[in-house]
Amino acid sequence: MGKTYVVVAETKDGKLRQVTLEALQAAVAIRTDGDALAAVLIGHSTADASAELARYVDGGQVLVLDHPDLSSYQPELYFAAVTQALAVLPPEPQLVLLGHTGIGRDLAPQIAAHLGCGQISDVTAIVQDGDDVLFTRPLYAGKAFEQKRLADATGVVTVRPNNLPPASPAAAPGLVVPLEFAPPQSLRTVLKDVVRKVSGKVDLTEAKIVVSGGRGVKSAEGFKVLEELADCLQGAVGASRGACDAGYCDYALQIGQTGKVVTPEIYIACGISGAIQHLAGMSQSRIIVAINKDPEAPIFKVADYGIVGDLFEVVPLLTEQFKEVLA
Ligand code: FAD
Repeated sequence: MGKTYVVVAETKDGKLRQVTLEALQAAVAIRTDGDALAAVLIGHSTADASAELARYVDGGQVLVLDHPDLSSYQPELYFAAVTQALAVLPPEPQLVLLGHTGIGRDLAPQIAAHLGCGQISDVTAIVQDGDDVLFTRPLYAGKAFEQKRLADATGVVTVRPNNLPPASPAAAPGLVVPLEFAPPQSLRTVLKDVVRKVSGKVDLTEAKIVVSGGRGVKSAEGFKVLEELADCLQGAVGASRGACDAGYCDYALQIGQTGKVVTPEIYIACGISGAIQHLAGMSQSRIIVAINKDPEAPIFKVADYGIVGDLFEVVPLLTEQFKEVLA
């Protein structure tokens, strides 16, 4: 009998997150004939997302735990839901895949401990090496990479958003299987409220284009020109810690060693010097464009394209040009 590949899905505002499709594609790429594919969907009012997910599991199952208590992420409840879903799957070795998101990072080690298997985090590439599957992950803030394999090909893997291709709808739709969620008898923590700090139109970690601002933007008002460029490119706005510390924007936008890690197709750094701690969060972007008035700014060393100039002149010009081209 083959193995079961399980993807723990994530939704945002009721819609499947792109990283879930990337994790599904990883499972599709690794599995061999006879291996089963399943997805676990946890939340509340999940009808649309479960129907959507069923399009990708190629004849497999979508195990749905839908309960009012699961409307927001709560580690103990979500972990209980995952274990209840895994319990209905065949007990042969499993590979469990999640997005390397806040939720995925929190759940993955708990699942690995529960299954008594290994875990590989923040995977950016997967390669087949004979019978082995090798998982590539960055080290030292992206300065080096390592390739790992799981003992007995069994374990838990988190995949970094925007690095693997997303799954396409499969030939055979999957079966949606609703499961009764049994909340744990007692909880050690109780979620009282969720306060959303930033309701960005595009999720920063999954955005294809990120327009980021640093201390050179000089004020919260100054970020408006970056927002206009991001909106026109359907991208997201990010920031350096310098900009966050100065109060120009919320820390939710911070990119870097102590902020978010992003790997968009295009990263446009405006008025950011390129400190090593900032590079840790964006140096894996496919194309880096730097706009800085200092030709010696270190950001130019990692940039594919550099514009030496005042961002308040350059960014509006870019927006105007993109608007014309995109129209
Ligand atoms: P600056 O270094 O002040 O650079 C501003 C740039 O804007 C300059 O290059 C200047 O030439 C340019 N500029 C000014 N005006 C204009 C203009 N009109 N047009 C164009 N260019 C202009 N930083 C992060 O970003 N993320 C992190 O996660 C992070 N974590 C850290 C963790 C630790 C433990 C430590 C010690 C530091 C961390 N930092 C982090 C801070 C980091 O070291 C830098 O201080 C910070 O990134 C600098 O931000 P900045 O590039 O916006 O500002």
